[in-house]
Amino acid sequence: MTTNLSPLPVGSTVGILGGGQLGKMLAAAAAQLGYKPLIYCPEKDACALTVARGFVAGWEDGDALKFFAEQCGVITCELDEGPGFLWATKFLEGLGKKVFPGTEALLAAQDRRRGKEIAFSAGIKNPWYGVVTKASDFSHFADCSFPMLLKTCTGGYDGKGQRKVNSVEELEPAFAELGSVDCVLEKIVDFFFEFSVIVVRGQTGECRAYAPFRNFHENGILVETVWPERSIFVESVVASAALDSAKRIADRLEVVGLVAVEFFYARDGKILFNEFAVRPHNSGHVTLDWAYTSQFEQHIRAVCGLPFGSTAVRGQGGKMVNVIGNLEQVQASLPHPKARIYIYGKPARPGRKLGHINRPLMN
Ligand code: AMP
Repeated sequence: MTTNLSPLPVGSTVGILGGGQLGKMLAAAAAQLGYKPLIYCPEKDACALTVARGFVAGWEDGDALKFFAEQCGVITCELDEGPGFLWATKFLEGLGKKVFPGTEALLAAQDRRRGKEIAFSAGIKNPWYGVVTKASDFSHFADCSFPMLLKTCTGGYDGKGQRKVNSVEELEPAFAELGSVDCVLEKIVDFFFEFSVIVVRGQTGECRAYAPFRNFHENGILVETVWPERSIFVESVVASAALDSAKRIADRLEVVGLVAVEFFYARDGKILFNEFAVRPHNSGHVTLDWAYTSQFEQHIRAVCGLPFGSTAVRGQGGKMVNVIGNLEQVQASLPHPKARIYIYGKPARPGRKLGHINRPLMN
């Protein structure tokens, strides 16, 4: 169990590793609570640097990390992988700094195979899967029913790093296209819908959960979240099983901060694990406007040792729509007085998340 720590005094600096939109929203939450957010990231045009001071230096720049660490009362992360990133978290831990979540939790979250093992040990079923690390593994799947999804163990996000494989013969080209790196080969789940749960775990091990989020994806990218998910099924037994398993993952990894777990609600009635993250989750962006305490504030509260805020839904709840590839949707939403618009300030690129729009469920 993580030891109890006294709250970080107001005015202290909260270090945030990573300068993307999650870092930007974490920085805003830290500032709201009276802390000084300080970003550390390798990109000089990172969008989080528009709202907070920052260091621009490489993940493996020990001198820059040391200088950064000296100023921080606590350090957290907005990302869980990337070349050299875990070198940085280990280095900071080696300096005796508190890094939440720690390197062990980040290691587990960045590797699909480890994630599946942890989910299984936390009592969550996986879709059927096998491991592919070399060409001689292909023949193990000769008798399996296809299509399946081949996914890289690390480095995949927003549908990247995965290929649909229609037969055992297609494994070889798909594996090569993915760079011949370690992969999992996963059964395609026939699901009613996808949902996620987000829990926050504090420094003494206490947890608080948000109600489940219902998620809609296109081409592997989250396009829309509705919160709370009100179907009877997810509201009751399944919701509490999913939330319990998310808490078990948080406990097992001794996470301080957020844990988000994505599930499939399969047509055969099973709840199956997809993946988890130890940071704010895209589905949780809806909490910025429709929860009493957003996921970002909740995460900052946890890492700073403050009491949690309420995870309750405000009013009827809301819907979040991602702005992907270009800002046209934003122009269309501007005249709607109840649309809450978040633009991250990143250059447009096809398939890139550039912002999101929150709306009430009931107008
Ligand atoms: P992932 O990067 O694994 O979260 O995958 C992105 C999205 O692809 C998921 O949210 C699903 O919409 C879809 N997907 C991933 N794995 C599966 C699967 N085994 N069966 C069906 N759909 C999947």
